[in-house]
Amino acid sequence: MSIHRPTMKDVPGGNGCDEACANQNADQKQHNKACEQRAASELDDEQLYRQGHKRPEGDFCPICTLPISLPMGVHSVFFVCCMKKICNGCIMAAEKRDILNCPFCRTPRPKSEAESLAMVQTRVEKKDPAAINYLAQKYCHGNLGLQKDMRIAVELWTEAAELGSIKATFNLGYAYCSGDGVQKDEAKGIQLWSIAALQGHVESRHNLGCIEGEKGYYDLAVRHLMILAEMGFKDSVETIQQMFMGGLATEEQLAQGRKGYQDAVEKMKSHDRDEARALGNRNAPKLGKEEVSVSPSSMVWTRFGELNEIAAGEVVEFLLRTTRRLLRWFYQRSSRSRHASGYA
Ligand SMILES: [Zn+2]
Ligand SMILES: [Zn+2]
Repeated sequence: MSIHRPTMKDVPGGNGCDEACANQNADQKQHNKACEQRAASELDDEQLYRQGHKRPEGDFCPICTLPISLPMGVHSVFFVCCMKKICNGCIMAAEKRDILNCPFCRTPRPKSEAESLAMVQTRVEKKDPAAINYLAQKYCHGNLGLQKDMRIAVELWTEAAELGSIKATFNLGYAYCSGDGVQKDEAKGIQLWSIAALQGHVESRHNLGCIEGEKGYYDLAVRHLMILAEMGFKDSVETIQQMFMGGLATEEQLAQGRKGYQDAVEKMKSHDRDEARALGNRNAPKLGKEEVSVSPSSMVWTRFGELNEIAAGEVVEFLLRTTRRLLRWFYQRSSRSRHASGYA
């Protein structure tokens, strides 16, 4: 696994092995070995662009089976009972039928932080990677009555990543890149983001694109952004637009990015989601930390930080507001239909 190592076209004056290889005057065996290693790194780079275009299983709502709109924290709610992210459309549809429990497994929502933590811990004991990642996030922020402790968070993310949590792999990458709770090791952090990106993790690929942009490898940044646009990530289209304005992306790339994004949006649409969006997605809490860096060309590359999952129970206020709006909307609609049918 590797992250971007400059390919031959990035090496000043380097158009191919014969011209650029620093070992060309060394003996043939060394020369071959160096060239093989470089070929392998280029192959890995290509793999990163070729693979991971499909969003992972956890990005799909288990009820309507559609991919959840991005950013997922705004368009879905996480349920600690079953560790599922349910889209706002399905939550709203359930609430309309007076189902206030988890719409997936029907467990009543936890009524307190202690109850929520107990539910998580039950699943952590069973080695559920999503639960271990979630617990790590709570240690990272000091939520659910836990004392903030990044060292424990990193330990838990490491365990969850080993058990297959893509999100934990991303979060661990953030910890290594920032040196928060662990010895700073950016190469390792980037490697973890690459592993996650290969499995379709959007924020990881976004950060890899930012890193290429920061280094001035704009062609590679655009390649990441194009993939993200096709996965339905609006920020990427906007960045391609900015790059186009600055002469760093072509008109064709912008057009293709926009089209890819539109196609992805169509696949994420549903009637329930449209209604939920109109009623209150905008009130969802802002998630995650962000780190902003500015490249010499004045392009702003904003990396995603640790992604905090907001679970049902933690968003009581948001849901209440949504429900109140929903009730008002029902009232208005029913009074309109009464007027329409002459029963005012
Ligand atoms: Zn759904
Ligand atoms: Zn559930």
